[in-house]
Amino acid sequence: MATSANAAPIVTMRAVTKRFGEFAALKAVDLDVAPGEVVVIVGPSGSGKSTLIRCINLLETYDEGDVVVDGIRVEEGRNLRKVREEVGMVFQAFNLFPNLTVLDNVALGPVRVRKLSWEAARQKARGLLTRVGIGEQAEKYPVQLSGGQQQRVGIARALAMEPRVLLFDEPTSALDPEMVGEVLDVIRTLAGTGTTMLLVTHEMGFARKVADRIVFMEAGEIKEIAAPDRFFTNPASERARAFLDAVL
Ligand code: ADP
Ligand code: MG
Repeated sequence: MATSANAAPIVTMRAVTKRFGEFAALKAVDLDVAPGEVVVIVGPSGSGKSTLIRCINLLETYDEGDVVVDGIRVEEGRNLRKVREEVGMVFQAFNLFPNLTVLDNVALGPVRVRKLSWEAARQKARGLLTRVGIGEQAEKYPVQLSGGQQQRVGIARALAMEPRVLLFDEPTSALDPEMVGEVLDVIRTLAGTGTTMLLVTHEMGFARKVADRIVFMEAGEIKEIAAPDRFFTNPASERARAFLDAVL
C-alpha cells in the first residue's frame, strides 16, 4: 500500500458513460487512482464493477468521457497497444491457454509483446511461478492444476508483463472455498509492492484488509468512496449500508 497521495493519478476516469443499447451500465463515472494505490470495488451484482475496470484496458469501449492511464488516453488505435502493455488483468475464469504448459502461459506475453527470447521469458516465468508459490508446477498443463493454482498462474502471467496497473475481476469467485485463501494471500502480497491495483471482489474481509480505498457502486454509479475502516463501520450512504447488511 505504497500510496503516494500527492503524485499525479496513474488512472483517471472522467465522466465515463457506457451504454449497452439504451441501458447505461456506467453513468458519468469519475475516479482517480494514485500510483501504488489499491482500490477495491464493491457493490451489488450488475452495478457496473466489471464494466468499469474493463474500460481501463478497453476490453469494453466507453461512449462518453475519458479514461487515461499513465498519461495515455485509452482508445482504439495506436494508443491501445501502449495501454495494454501498462495494464494487466486477472480474470475470474483464469483464461489460461489449455494447450500451453503453465510455464509457457506465463512466458508467452513477454515473447509476443516485449520481444523477449523464449529462453529469457521462461527464466523470468520460473521466477514468477516461484513467487506465487507454484514453481514446481511449471511443466504441467493448466487442466492438471487445481483452481487455486490456475489462478496463481493467471496472476503470474499478468505480472510477467510488468504492468503498472493490475486489474482483478472477482479473482476468487470461480474457486472452491478452500482455495480462496491461497489466491487472496498472493494478491495481498502484491498489494505491498507498489503495483497499482483495482480489484473487484465479494470477499469483504479481504477488501477491508487490502484496500487503500473502497469504491462502492450501484446502478452504474459510484455512490461512495471511502477508507475501508470507515466504509465497513460507518458507510455514508444508505445504499452502502443496505449492501453491507446484506453481505456481511
Ligand atoms: P457487475 O460486474 O457489477 O456485476 P457488470 O459491469 O458486469 O456488473 O454489468 C453492469 C450492467 O451492464 C448489468 O446490468 C449487465 O447486465 C449489463 N451488461 C454488461 N455487459 C453487457 C453486454 N455485453 N451487453 C449487454 N448488457 C451488458
Ligand atoms: Mg462483474
